Amino acid sequence: MRSEIPQLAIVVPCYNEELCVKTTVEKLFEVINSLVSKNKILDNSYIYLVDDGSKDKTWNIIQNLHNSNPNVKGTKFIRNYGNQKALMAGLESVREIGCDCVVTIDADLQQDEWAIEKFIDKYMEEYDVVLGIRNNRKTDSFFKRTSAEMFYKTMNLLGVHIPMNHSDYRLISRRTLEVMKLYPEKLFFLRGFFYEVGLPTTTVNFDVKERMAGASKFSFASLMGLALNGITSYSIMPLRCVAVGGFFMALFGFLVGLETVFEKFFLHNSPNGWTTTIVLMCMFGGIQLFCLGIIGEYIGQLYREVKSRPRYIKDIELK
Ligand code: UDP
Ligand code: MG
Repeated sequence: MRSEIPQLAIVVPCYNEELCVKTTVEKLFEVINSLVSKNKILDNSYIYLVDDGSKDKTWNIIQNLHNSNPNVKGTKFIRNYGNQKALMAGLESVREIGCDCVVTIDADLQQDEWAIEKFIDKYMEEYDVVLGIRNNRKTDSFFKRTSAEMFYKTMNLLGVHIPMNHSDYRLISRRTLEVMKLYPEKLFFLRGFFYEVGLPTTTVNFDVKERMAGASKFSFASLMGLALNGITSYSIMPLRCVAVGGFFMALFGFLVGLETVFEKFFLHNSPNGWTTTIVLMCMFGGIQLFCLGIIGEYIGQLYREVKSRPRYIKDIELK
């Protein structure tokens, strides 16, 4: 059991969340105040909002909240970098500012904020990573539900065992934040990282609510990007499959070749194989392009890492 009462930081990524952010901060302070009164966290616990280049009034609201309460801190990106980068920035910033543990939660409070108490209880039991697992996906569209399910199943098949139905709602300890520092990669796939790093990990179940206001900030393309990054960051299984598949295909080609030569020279009935030729050409052409595509994804990953551009650029910071 940990004995010292922790200072908690709550990181909230916000992209065009002018309709949510104020209420969210108020609700999160209700949780913080209740935990402070139960002596579960210190009263210097704070909220850190990352404005991911919003085009609406989100940043003005954050500034006002900071002016009336210094325990609301935050930063603004110069442009929209996406939710993963916003989360990373939040985690890196609270590591600099200081805290004993940090919870990340969405700005629309779809995740039940009162589960934070359970997160803290698990933290006190000396867990370094506490993953929030949603009880159901009732609030998601059929499409999102099935694509998410497919993603988790594919990841598991590829050897990355991220728990099903875990979104980016989790608590991590200071120690985990320090370990993250050792990972220099720019395209950080947080869900894969917490599985890979192997610190004491547990889960907490929570209920999902409807989005408080506004619409989902994720497009199909950004979800696809996240999924592909997840795969190429944490598994080289697709590359291995390409190699193994290529080997068997070459073997097959060799055997078919042998058979054709045998027929030509010994049986003298070289078949009229037009259909076979076309079918094989299309099939192998398709397979080759698909494999090239897989390899291309990894080269793209390498390309972006090698250029080593900054993960994000902060415009303003309120500490
Ligand atoms: N978000 C972000 N940058 C983006 C897209 C989303 O910071 O480019 C934030 C958004 O403000 C919210 C969280 O990521 O706090 C989750 O987004 P959303 O609720 O729209 O996703 P959904 O719940 O539909 O998966
Ligand atoms: Mg949401």
